[in-house]
This record gives sequence, C-alpha cells and structure tokens, in this order.
Amino acid sequence: MADCLFCKIIEGEVPSDKLYDDDLVVVILDINPRAPRHFLVIPREHIGTVKDVRGEHGPLLTRMFVAASNVAKDEGIAESGFRMTFNVGDDAGMTVNHLHMHVLGGRQLGPEG
Ligand SMILES: [Zn+2]
Repeated sequence: MADCLFCKIIEGEVPSDKLYDDDLVVVILDINPRAPRHFLVIPREHIGTVKDVRGEHGPLLTRMFVAASNVAKDEGIAESGFRMTFNVGDDAGMTVNHLHMHVLGGRQLGPEG
C-alpha cells in the first residue's frame, strides 16, 4: 500500500535496522523500544490487522512465529524469556495498520495487560 510505513520499509524506501528477512517476513528493531530487546516481525504481504487474517495465511503466520523464535535466539533472549504481542486497533495502541508481531525481552516484563 502506497501510504503504509511498513510497506515502505519492506520496499527499502524507508531505512530500518533489519535483523532478518526472507521471502515472507522481515524482522526489524522497533524504533521506540520498550524493553532492552524489542523487535517487530512483519509479513511482506500487506495484511491490515489480525482481523484480516484468513485461513490461507497459515504458512505466513507459521513463518512469523519461526522467525520470531530464531531472532529471539540470535538476540540472546530465548532462554530468559520473551513476549510476543499483536496489537489490534486504537485501544491496543496499534499505530501502523500493517500486521506485525512485537517481540520483547531482556528484562522482567511483568504481567500482561
Ligand atoms: Zn503495509
């Protein structure tokens, strides 16, 4: 989508700190980290939110989880623990309407909510 920040990052039009990429997903550092390790797993396909996920996205979602797990190992938080979050809509603080998974770790995160 023309006005989507994450589509621009995926196309290389906007610079990012890329940790991993393949044919389905891109993993970048969050520009406003809320934990010592905070990265985003973004599908190359523009999917708006979790509400737009369909059955055919199964392989893509699997790849997102595998990429998150592998990058968590690379970033040194796989053993200590990490959180994976999908925000949906305004109340959750979703600021870019392109599906993405937040992965946070590197400190005690406390309860969710
Ligand atoms: Zn997009």
